[in-house]
Amino acid sequence: MTTLDEPARTGQERIPPAPPTGPRALVVGAGIAGLAAATSLHRAGWRVTVCERAPARRTGGYFVRLAREGVEAAARLGVEESLRSRLPSDGVITGVDGRGRTTSRVGADVVEDGVGLALVRGDLEAALWEGLPDEVEVRFATAPRAVSPAHGTVVLDTADGGGTTERWDLVVGADGVRSTVRDLVFGPEEDFRHDFDHVVVSAVLPRLPGGLVEGDYVVLVEPGRSAHLMAMAGHDPVVFFTYRADHPRARGTSPTTRPEAALRAVYGDFRGLMPEILALVARAGTTHADTVGQIHLERWSRGRVVLLGDSAWCPTLYSGHGSALALSGGESLGRHLAVTDGAVPDVPAALRAWEAECRPGTDVARTAARRARHFFLPDNRVVTAVRQAALRTISEPWVARLLRAVSRRAGRTGAPERVLHDDVHPTVTGSSDRRRGVAP
Ligand SMILES: Cc1cc2nc3c(=O)[nH]c(=O)nc-3n(C[C@H](O)[C@H](O)[C@H](O)COP(=O)(O)OP(=O)(O)OC[C@H]3O[C@@H](n4cnc5c(N)ncnc54)[C@H](O)[C@@H]3O)c2cc1C
Repeated sequence: MTTLDEPARTGQERIPPAPPTGPRALVVGAGIAGLAAATSLHRAGWRVTVCERAPARRTGGYFVRLAREGVEAAARLGVEESLRSRLPSDGVITGVDGRGRTTSRVGADVVEDGVGLALVRGDLEAALWEGLPDEVEVRFATAPRAVSPAHGTVVLDTADGGGTTERWDLVVGADGVRSTVRDLVFGPEEDFRHDFDHVVVSAVLPRLPGGLVEGDYVVLVEPGRSAHLMAMAGHDPVVFFTYRADHPRARGTSPTTRPEAALRAVYGDFRGLMPEILALVARAGTTHADTVGQIHLERWSRGRVVLLGDSAWCPTLYSGHGSALALSGGESLGRHLAVTDGAVPDVPAALRAWEAECRPGTDVARTAARRARHFFLPDNRVVTAVRQAALRTISEPWVARLLRAVSRRAGRTGAPERVLHDDVHPTVTGSSDRRRGVAP
């Protein structure tokens, strides 16, 4: 299947054509935040090097809905054109319980604001990679071992097993929720992490299960366990599971070391589509497996070092804004650090100003995620029943008409997205007149 994220676009080392002038920035991590920051810092007059721990750029990943602020930042970075929504807006989101019974069917357009984009993470990273200026150097299989925030000195472990020590005017830690830069400069993760006691595992399936068709979005829910399956256009289907880490069926399993076995234990009693989904995951392997937790830091910078994206403020997948905030945060970093007439800006002061601009949005996203997690992954039968009742109400034609109008208005006015965010992974599905019930 041809995808925007095909391997030919994966890329290897990039060596800049000619050594330019200007202050030097090291961006740690070639994810959404890191690639956005690299382009914006280059535009602002910096000589940028990106170091990435993985041996090559990642592809695929999992479903992400890019919210409005992310789409706008993508446009400012000039990469919006290569991003196309992979789920049509005229489909249906189907709720299914553990016995395989359909519990709700909601028109996808009820939750669409007409601005956000339904993508896989790899789409975003591929678009940002394509847009990366030639002058930006990228070093794969390279990760920091030591960082000095006062002097910008970084010891990097390199691909050949050796190491280098270099001085940078700015170090950006865009290395995700398990950030090494944060560990080295700010302190151990446990000081900043607020665990949700949930596990998330994602996979890209080799084919669609159960006779589903492109555009189908199925949400399988039992108390303490859920799975979201999306049949995306031009991409293999993606699925992610979230379950309570203390669920009795999770006892004795290890989602990070043996995710497929953990899924079999936790979802093994589901009927309907699930047995086939689990068999496909076992064949394809998983793309992400971790516990879910937010990051809360009082300050995101120290000296010449700044954290960005999930490493600084991870709101979790339940906010539906992590990728948008990573993108917009990276894009705005360069605007605050512009080099004018060859003069390096006051880095600590610029980082404080940047943080003041970004922090309110991240606070809103983290609060929304804390609320949404209970509805997203209902803990008990009562919340599960309330959730199903709410979805059934939403599927009433007059309620749907009202919600559609609210969604469209939110899209036009730029009002914060609210509708249904607490439920279907701020996301929508699609398919049109080909719709049928989900195979039990
Ligand atoms: C299942 C799932 C669903 C999600 N759904 C959504 C959604 O619908 N909408 C949304 O907006 N967000 C969603 N998110 C969240 C979103 O994906 C993240 O917020 C976003 O990817 C964060 O980007 P980042 O660049 O900060 O970090 P990451 O994506 O984690 O990238 C970090 C990069 O740094 C590299 N790295 C790590 N350590 C080192 C090191 N020591 N040295 C060098 N490189 C290193 C990594 O290999 C990686 O390339 C979802 C997340 C998950 C798991």
